[in-house]
Amino acid sequence: MFSFLTKIFGDPSEKKLQLYRKELEAIKKIEAKYRDEITSLEQVQAKTHEFQSKFEGLDVTDDDDKKKIKEILETIKHEAFALHRRACELIHGQTFELDANTQYEWNMVPYDVQMLGALALHDGNISEMKTGEGKTLVATIAAYLNALVGNSVHIVTVNDYLARRDAKEMGIIYKALGLSVGVISHGQSFEEKKHSYSRDVVYATNNELGFDYLRDNMAVSDENRVMSTLWYAIIDEVDSILVDEARTPLIISAPSAEPTSQYMRFAAIARKLSENTDYKIDEKQKTATLTEEGINALEKILGVDNIYVSQHYNDIHHIENALKASTVYKKDIDYLLRNDEIMIIDEHTGRVLPGRRYSDGLHQAIEAKENATIQEESRTLASVTFQNYFRLYKKLSGMTGTAKTEEEEFYKIYNLEVICVPTNRPVIREDRGDLLFRSEKGKFDYITNLVEKLYEKGQPVLIGTVSVAKSEYLSHLLEQKNIPHNVLNAKHDSKEAEIVGAAGKYKAVTIATNMAGRGTDIKIDDRVRNLSGTVTIEGKAGKQEYPLGGLYIIGTEKHETRRIDNQLRGRSGRQGDPGLSQFMISPQDDIMRIFGGNKLFSILARFELHPENDPLVESKMLTRNIESIQKQVEGRNFDIRKHILEYDDVLNQHRLAIYARRNRILKGNDIHQEILDMLEHQIQSIVSSVYDIHNEIDSAYVTDIVKEINDFAESEVISRDDVDDVENPEDMLTRVKTLLSGKIENLRSQGDEETFSDFERQLTLASIDEMWMQHIDKMAHLREEVAFEGYAQKNPLVVYKERAYEGFMNLINDLEFRVIKALLTAKPAEAIESVELESALRSDYTETATASHEHTNLFQDASGGFPNIPKKEKTNSDESGIRVVKVQNTQSTPENIDMSNTPKNAQCPCGSGKKFKTCHGKNL
Ligand code: ADP
Ligand code: MG
Repeated sequence: MFSFLTKIFGDPSEKKLQLYRKELEAIKKIEAKYRDEITSLEQVQAKTHEFQSKFEGLDVTDDDDKKKIKEILETIKHEAFALHRRACELIHGQTFELDANTQYEWNMVPYDVQMLGALALHDGNISEMKTGEGKTLVATIAAYLNALVGNSVHIVTVNDYLARRDAKEMGIIYKALGLSVGVISHGQSFEEKKHSYSRDVVYATNNELGFDYLRDNMAVSDENRVMSTLWYAIIDEVDSILVDEARTPLIISAPSAEPTSQYMRFAAIARKLSENTDYKIDEKQKTATLTEEGINALEKILGVDNIYVSQHYNDIHHIENALKASTVYKKDIDYLLRNDEIMIIDEHTGRVLPGRRYSDGLHQAIEAKENATIQEESRTLASVTFQNYFRLYKKLSGMTGTAKTEEEEFYKIYNLEVICVPTNRPVIREDRGDLLFRSEKGKFDYITNLVEKLYEKGQPVLIGTVSVAKSEYLSHLLEQKNIPHNVLNAKHDSKEAEIVGAAGKYKAVTIATNMAGRGTDIKIDDRVRNLSGTVTIEGKAGKQEYPLGGLYIIGTEKHETRRIDNQLRGRSGRQGDPGLSQFMISPQDDIMRIFGGNKLFSILARFELHPENDPLVESKMLTRNIESIQKQVEGRNFDIRKHILEYDDVLNQHRLAIYARRNRILKGNDIHQEILDMLEHQIQSIVSSVYDIHNEIDSAYVTDIVKEINDFAESEVISRDDVDDVENPEDMLTRVKTLLSGKIENLRSQGDEETFSDFERQLTLASIDEMWMQHIDKMAHLREEVAFEGYAQKNPLVVYKERAYEGFMNLINDLEFRVIKALLTAKPAEAIESVELESALRSDYTETATASHEHTNLFQDASGGFPNIPKKEKTNSDESGIRVVKVQNTQSTPENIDMSNTPKNAQCPCGSGKKFKTCHGKNL
């Protein structure tokens, strides 16, 4: 549809670019002026303060203010962009000390195309800029402008290493401009995080941000929260974060007590069932479903009449997990068994994901299948999808080298348009069509042979694989030929960045899965740039010629989506460098095996006698065929993500409502009126339900009401005399309400008002949290249940929405019931004590909780909760570990403080919250 509209109306992205080009001219005029006027960083910073003052008193969360803010941003935009470039000019060539061991020479002044990219970001678009175009710098321009508003701008990276790197390096320009910068990384203490979030620009991974958001909404008091208003986010590698990672939500969970013996039992049952008669598997969808016969068989084994009645509901879930575990999930492809532990292998990247677990009991089912120790299942305390997290920002934009193929999704789900920004220099890399081989083994033999020849000439090669297993296989082949090489499976982001960074060196051979070292710049030197000559491989079908020079990319397999292929190719040919890329295909490749179809095999049938390690002709038709397969897979994946979102959207409304209610309480507002409203709702429901039975005000009705109310309050709160003369249900409601609120007022007047108000808040908060966690669980079950409704020809989503609404109404009622009941039944002193105890327990609970994405535990050490995370990583003086030299720093730095008399175990004077001996006193 998009391309069709494009043909009629022209590429909208091109139109916007035209506008940005005009703006660029305006910016350049201001720049020329600034070159005379602004000659020092003091002047730059003064200008920044002048800009900042324009936003004073305005609040981004207020709709009217937001409009004004937008207008002011537009009026200062050109000046701010020009000032950024001017600041870059002023520090150009200067060396800064990032930390004790790292010097960094600033040598960047944004290119024109980078200014265009930044204009597109500021407008809330996705800037598609190829790898090596300098997106890191582009983000700083838009971040600078938007941070002037007075709220933090978040720059989102794919891993902790990149967050730290970018915060440090880009910290130079922010500080030159007079802004502060912070970095959020895993393992920071509460104080460190809180401090970092208060900076003008904050670098963080999507996971940390999402988890902090969830944890903040589990906090028991406002001081325990770390984040502030979610104003503007710029997402780097936006396709990876909003597309690849969007299929699974972020989850914070704590252990629960499902007996682990269950899993062994169902693994044994699964072995008794047979494929196709009892169950069917679908390798594409990774599902196993029982047939009618299978269900009968299961019922017989379990000794139940009807497995669909709800108390056996979980059994279906268990058996299907056991079946999936035994058929669809394969050892060494989907997971590894290492030291009695099942470790997931990421399907997109081929990395092993230590500590991550499949959800919903699947992981345990696999543990049972492999006879590994079964670990406990956990309970979800909070969860959110990235889609719904990032929609919380007032403004959003992103950058990546590869967004165009997912343009429709970005637009439909996030309302983000993709603007293709031209490269600074033309791309001269040669992207070849795919080579087809008869067998996978033959293909790898060819690749090994080719790499050997290239290596002899000094030609650097980067070889992309789809899995750890294939990386290792290829590595083994190269070893046999004595070709030195590096294998990267993204275990250590920083080390890996170093190795990938060197992949363009003379004679470098690097094998990498696709996420390995993403975000790292691969530079080539002149020797590699100017390599000459050709490597030729003669074959039966003709000869393949490979002209040398630049970086070579060999893809050993096509990925599920074109985008990931383009990522791989894009690692070569940066900034106008030479280079070449080619993919090698065989019928055993995943994408061919699972989605390939007949076309491929009809091609192959014609070449039965062809040698295996000799490519069949480079086939345009084949390449097109694969592309159409990829488009189908992309479409299917989009549907899955949309589906997840449709369901999460329902829960999201509940989440926002509950979080808003929590926030009001945390902000310390008095909620006494709210409590009285709850009381009224509760009485109303008792009064009307009794009235419904009797249908008139008579003696029996009054007796029943008195009984019900006293039962509810668990004491004689009213007597018959109190309500003997009421004439209608409204009267009854008013009367009972007056009596019960009188009781509550009485309670309130016994202590001081503030304590009571606090008590009301804590009580309500505790009820909200408990009920909310239960609700999340119920909704997860509901989702599974409605999947079965499909049999009844109903749209599961519609059923889900209806029942979710009921569920939410019940949640509200239940929590109000609990609060009012507690108020009516407890003695004040005891009640306050019990709530305090509970809130302490809850904060313990959240402390032992683990945070996970991809249904998995990212933080094995269970330090994910707030407050007081044990500190693991040591950071330097500044929150981003940056010490800027030469740039005037207006903040008081720890270096200005005399620390010589600080006792070792005292808090460090720098305010980090750490002990002196582990902070500034470390090296004394
Ligand atoms: P991308 O994220 O777009 O792949 P990076 O931000 O990693 O690119 O930048 C790639 C390289 O280009 C880095 O080494 C960076 O220092 C350099 N670079 C970026 N912008 C400029 C510039 N305006 N002038 C000189 N070098 C630049
Ligand atoms: Mg980058």
